[in-house]
Amino acid sequence: MDVILCSGCSCALDLCITALARRGQNILIPRPGFSIYRTLAEGLGINVKSYELRPELGWEIDLDNLESQIDESTAAIIINNPSNPCGSVFSRDHTLDILDVAARYYIPIIADEIYEHMVFPGRTFHSLASLSREVPILSCSGLTKRFLVPGWRMGWIIIHDRQNVLEKEIRKALQCLSQRIIGSNTLIQGALPAILKNTPQEFYDDVMKTLHDHSRAAYNCVMKIPGLKPIVPDGAMYMMVYIDLPCFPEFNSDLEFVQRLLMEESVFCLPGQCFDYPSYMRLVITVPVDMLEEACQRIQEFCERHHYKTAENTLRNNLATVDIPY
Ligand SMILES: *Cc1c(COP(=O)(O)O)cnc(C)c1O
Repeated sequence: MDVILCSGCSCALDLCITALARRGQNILIPRPGFSIYRTLAEGLGINVKSYELRPELGWEIDLDNLESQIDESTAAIIINNPSNPCGSVFSRDHTLDILDVAARYYIPIIADEIYEHMVFPGRTFHSLASLSREVPILSCSGLTKRFLVPGWRMGWIIIHDRQNVLEKEIRKALQCLSQRIIGSNTLIQGALPAILKNTPQEFYDDVMKTLHDHSRAAYNCVMKIPGLKPIVPDGAMYMMVYIDLPCFPEFNSDLEFVQRLLMEESVFCLPGQCFDYPSYMRLVITVPVDMLEEACQRIQEFCERHHYKTAENTLRNNLATVDIPY
């Protein structure tokens, strides 16, 4: 048995972490990264250690840093590609380099590949398992993002273990754990073969074209905003934006920035803090394009109002037009 159906990809990740790591051991997770890895691991008494991604290289993993985090208690490395919150897609060479680190230290990989099909034109996704015969890889994915159906709770683990390194225990553990909740959503299980086989290609093309158009619209708009620096995404449904906080002296953190943005402009972005990455915020680019443009417009007005340079100019202009009565 090589495929285990789960209650969403979150449940798939939960089973993998539980099966591979013991209390007191550690797993390595990306920074910035999806918060559920930490939540799941720490709930089980498993420690987490973060490895750094490099925004200036399209959020590639800092491989030296990854390697430096590995110790004798490291039970697994979680790799999230394409990434939430970064929208990055790793090149084939980079994927090979990651596999090389795992192979040298004999560490299995939990691959969170829920965005595997969500790559913009011109970019290619390379699954970890397609590029290695030796590293054991538990690949996690599901219907949630590709079919835009978070409530259907259908995900899976695909076990790639050509050398039988995981042996019977890990397979058995995954199977036992998957039966604790008496399987995943049975209605969707019944529909799964038809969903995967009969969905017309136009559906996928349409979703990806929309996301790509939105990412470009958002990037082009945010690029021009004083004090912000967007990082262009290659896939998934997010864009990370650097906030040059010293330009906004009223705010001490990304959290304060997004809270005021919500209060003043009713635009909600998650602060980088949610992904263990201060001084950034994450934009979700799935909203209709007119709303997305309106949101970017409002972010621009907000930034111009609070940026120390543009705010000063506005103040000076306003003062210049005031009639002083003497
Ligand atoms: C959304 C998401 C998941 C979990 O999705 P489910 O709704 O549990 O299927 C897992 N990993 C990442 C990176 C996600 O963005």
